[in-house]
Amino acid sequence: MPLSIAMVAHDAMKEPLKKWATEHLDALRPHEIFATGTTSKVIRSIGGELNITALKSGALGGDLQLGAMICEGKLDAMIFLQDPMTAQPHDVDVKALIRMSTLYNLPLACNTATADLIVASRLFSDGR
Ligand code: PGA
Repeated sequence: MPLSIAMVAHDAMKEPLKKWATEHLDALRPHEIFATGTTSKVIRSIGGELNITALKSGALGGDLQLGAMICEGKLDAMIFLQDPMTAQPHDVDVKALIRMSTLYNLPLACNTATADLIVASRLFSDGR
């Protein structure tokens, strides 16, 4: 069964996420991607027949939507490329999302090195 993968990138990290997703198109294609608003547009612009569901923009509640999905057991992993150099207006939502992923033991990549490891995992290729 396909996995449900959350993807979020802060503005300064959207290009790195686009580059990473482009490099891993074949690994991502079988799975369902749930991404915050602008991040979903960036991933969609790659093409490659990815299955993407767009949520609200992060600052407008998208992070909290993903947090709720984690609580409900609807996500299997998350790639969350945060900007380490810029304060975010929705920092409390970012914290809540990371707390939910910790609480529910969700595999979480905060950088592309860890995202590489998640994608390389047998759990990723075998699906749910
Ligand atoms: P965005 O939200 O994908 O709508 O930019 C991401 C975020 O800033 O949390």
